[in-house]
Amino acid sequence: MRQSKLFSKIRKEIPKDEVSKNAQLLIRGGFIYKEMAGVYVLLPLGIRVIENIKQIVREEMNALGGQELLMTTLQRKELWEETDRWDDKKVDVWFKSRLKNDVEIGFGWSHEEPITKMLINYIESFRDLPVYVYQFQNKLRNELRAKSGIMRGREFIMKDLYSYSRTEEDHKLFYDSVIEAYHRIFRRLGIGEDTFLTFASGGAFTQFSHEFQTITDAGEDVVYVDRRKKIAINEEVFTDDVTQQLNLDRNNLEKVKASESGNIFSFGGKKCEDLGLLYTDKDGKKKPVILGSYGLGITRLMGIIVEKLSDEKGMIWPEEIAPYRAHIIALGEQKDEQVQKISEEIYTAFGEEKALLDDRDVRAGEKFAEADFLGLPLRIVVSKRSLSEGGVEVKLRTEKESKIIPLEEIKKLL
Ligand code: ATP
Ligand code: MG
Repeated sequence: MRQSKLFSKIRKEIPKDEVSKNAQLLIRGGFIYKEMAGVYVLLPLGIRVIENIKQIVREEMNALGGQELLMTTLQRKELWEETDRWDDKKVDVWFKSRLKNDVEIGFGWSHEEPITKMLINYIESFRDLPVYVYQFQNKLRNELRAKSGIMRGREFIMKDLYSYSRTEEDHKLFYDSVIEAYHRIFRRLGIGEDTFLTFASGGAFTQFSHEFQTITDAGEDVVYVDRRKKIAINEEVFTDDVTQQLNLDRNNLEKVKASESGNIFSFGGKKCEDLGLLYTDKDGKKKPVILGSYGLGITRLMGIIVEKLSDEKGMIWPEEIAPYRAHIIALGEQKDEQVQKISEEIYTAFGEEKALLDDRDVRAGEKFAEADFLGLPLRIVVSKRSLSEGGVEVKLRTEKESKIIPLEEIKKLL
């Protein structure tokens, strides 16, 4: 991408109505635009990050045998009545509306009910199980307070995976494999070190639900982490009893603020029973399918990553999710043919999908400051001086020093 063509511009002013770091940096960098409180547009740079996060998640979900689909935003009231989750007193984040004929409908804040109802049409016997389906959906939630920028929105992207298993044993095996897959995802996102499997309340069927909590001051939760064992307890269930039960030592637990990046649940057979998703087992008996539900906050993750990985100069994107791998900066290219030729060559070699070429007629200092602010992993400066020193100047965003690399080597690197 040529920076001269990018319609979003980097802004110096901090948006007055944003207090969170993630929203301030992402808005200034042209990754997101605030439509209203808790509702953000993904601009070209932002959508590239989101698509990269989704791709990592997609690969890990497919590796588990997950099949991608896309459910609808408009949902039928009846489904949610069957499980007693239509009432605003039961679920306090519903957005609801009416069709022209006065039929009430809901906007999807979650999709367990519609997916389960739909699968009645596809699952009949034990031979049809297991089924693992997932999607990336815009969830709509009428959150009481939208805060923490894109970390708590009223419209946000979630990955939700649902597992339909024949037995509790099959379910447990899959559930554990999702935990492993989530750990791989967090590692690839660059926040593996600080993300913990966390015991929390809210298990509909089991004593605990499992959350994945990432340590950050921007988080809304408080958890007690055991860094060595890599697990944590949410303060909502933190008691001596629970600590003992989990074989943890109070002295090794550190109290920290964290953000819930993911959440996984076992529903047992209850939900499928309520909705009528039964299968015929080997013994000829009809049994409810065992349901598991596994959420991951895709847009929240982008916020968490910005909160955690930025420094005083700006954002720092991990290699796999950066909107572009390299920021090629041409200095004085308007005046120097050689600079123009070489920067274009390197840009072409990377490809417009992998590199951002700063081809604007702007002061060097400003280009450098903006490159640091955008935080692409690799900065390549082409200038009269670098060429006279025998190459281009290469610097990683995470390092202080740059190096002159000969042109032939840059091409080899690619
Ligand atoms: P929270 O306790 O933060 O409200 P939740 O328990 O409502 O989360 P789930 O319904 O399990 O969350 O959703 C799965 C994931 O979606 C969460 O772990 C979180 O990462 C993300 N998420 C939930 N609500 C929001 C929101 N309002 N904005 C952005 N991401 C969200
Ligand atoms: Mg919630």
